[in-house]
Amino acid sequence: MARIIDNLNTISKKIDEAKKRTQATQDVTIIAVTKQVSTERAVEAVEAGLNHLGENRPEGLLSKKGEMNNQAIWHYIGSLQSRKVKQVINEIDYLHSLDRFSLAEEINKRAEKTIKCFVQVNVSGEQTKHGLSKEEVIPFIQSLQQFDKIQVVGLMTMAPNTEDETIIRHVFRELKKLQQDVVELNLPFAPCQELSMGMSNDFDIAVEEGATFVRIGTALVG
Ligand SMILES: *Cc1c(COP(=O)(O)O)cnc(C)c1O
Repeated sequence: MARIIDNLNTISKKIDEAKKRTQATQDVTIIAVTKQVSTERAVEAVEAGLNHLGENRPEGLLSKKGEMNNQAIWHYIGSLQSRKVKQVINEIDYLHSLDRFSLAEEINKRAEKTIKCFVQVNVSGEQTKHGLSKEEVIPFIQSLQQFDKIQVVGLMTMAPNTEDETIIRHVFRELKKLQQDVVELNLPFAPCQELSMGMSNDFDIAVEEGATFVRIGTALVG
């Protein structure tokens, strides 16, 4: 297994190159997705300077967080069942998978502080993917005004699993457009400045298209 610090150097270089290619100026935060690796490996990630960690199951999040003394910022990136909200919501800093009203209601009921949420969008419309359709996003966000524990910090998507860069780029570009539409609404509870998009195979394209958070597992800690 490669050292995480070496993987991180390679990835950081690619991110810088992607930004240069498009003269992009946004800050890009790397989330180390540790869902498939041990707590020891997650500790190695934090020691390499990666303090944003991502998990997609309540069990994985709680066991790693419990076993680590390191300070980390925790991102919950998987789909979240409403009945599991109370287990995780006060253990995380960011939720990347807000995709329904009933989930928002449950979060608002259980959260002891404001939760930074990404609204998950199924840009490509694939049946197997979670998230709202593009058309649903704005009405959904407007419906969240009543929930004082929810802050919509941005939008999140997963690109289709394809070799076709044009398709991937199009998905990221659509998410960015939608994000800008939300920004224009000027909603105090939905500043929506962030774009969570890009994984091991497509983070460079995502950065070119404006990603501010990339979620990287395999290429970084795998
Ligand atoms: C697993 C996962 C990732 C990381 O995927 P890699 O291809 O290993 O980089 C990113 N986002 C979500 C939502 C995931 O479930």
